[in-house]
Amino acid sequence: MEIKAFAAHATKADLKPFQYEPKPLGPFDVELKISHCGICHSDIHLIDNDWRISSYPLVPGHEIVGTVTSAGTMVEHLKVGQRVGVGWQRSACMICDMCMSGQHNLCPKQQATCAGNFGGFADRIRVDSRFAIPIPNALSSETAAPLLCGGITVFSPFMNFGVSPLHRVGVIGIGGLGHLALQFARAFGCEVTAFSHTREKASEARDFGAHHFVWTKDAEKLKAVAGTLDFIINTANADMDWTPFIEALRPNGKLCFVGVPPSPVSVPVNYLLGGRKSIAASPIGSPEEIRKMLDFAARHHIGAKTEMRPMEEVNEALKKVRDNTVRYRMVLANT
Ligand SMILES: [Zn+2]
Ligand SMILES: [Zn+2]
Repeated sequence: MEIKAFAAHATKADLKPFQYEPKPLGPFDVELKISHCGICHSDIHLIDNDWRISSYPLVPGHEIVGTVTSAGTMVEHLKVGQRVGVGWQRSACMICDMCMSGQHNLCPKQQATCAGNFGGFADRIRVDSRFAIPIPNALSSETAAPLLCGGITVFSPFMNFGVSPLHRVGVIGIGGLGHLALQFARAFGCEVTAFSHTREKASEARDFGAHHFVWTKDAEKLKAVAGTLDFIINTANADMDWTPFIEALRPNGKLCFVGVPPSPVSVPVNYLLGGRKSIAASPIGSPEEIRKMLDFAARHHIGAKTEMRPMEEVNEALKKVRDNTVRYRMVLANT
């Protein structure tokens, strides 16, 4: 049976109804009936071919929640009817050093859910079952969907860069990613500072878990946090002067990029050298990290703050994401 989806047929084009015949279900594959799919900024980048990897027709969508409707002959860990989530990655080679050490998100042969494959703006999808992660009962499908890309993107660095409750953490940008990073950092037990160029976000940032708020246009306030933070995660996709944030780090501190500024990041090495500071970046997370992240989110009542639209209103929903007027994450629902 054909899968009903929404596809862009050209760069920057509106999405239109599109049907395709799925590939045969492989032994490790599952087919999901999609209930919800979040919209991530990466979907817009794909539609616009910003990364020069897009091919059309392009079905975006990589924050998928659905139930298993059929499973391949080798699938033992998922049952028909079970609720699962799929993020940016739909499969990996499973035999390289990265896969064998549980770091599937670093596999050179990984396949993206909606780049080179048809994604989650659809009624169904087929993916490798090992990349379909069970959703804990405590999480609603609507709030869980954005965790599958946005959530793991900000959670994974906390695990891999050894953030601990003893640390003071900064979050730059209070948007789709940042509002999740604040919740995770607070639940980790850290002292949390939110940085935003929008002064009006101060009270909401505190609601999401920030102990402190710094308006980044206030140079004096930015200077006042110098030497106080152990770890800063940048969630903003904007260019800015990064040196005040390097200065905000304590010795051994790290500035980690999960948002991607358009221009190269440039800081004087001397700002890093004396305090042995570093700059890092981090892509999504492995299936096991996603499992841990969902478990942690369920235990600490962490979820995305969402706006929901029916799947048929995908173009209106995309426009709101493009205009940056969503507070804080858009989710499409199949009704
Ligand atoms: Zn994403
Ligand atoms: Zn691999």
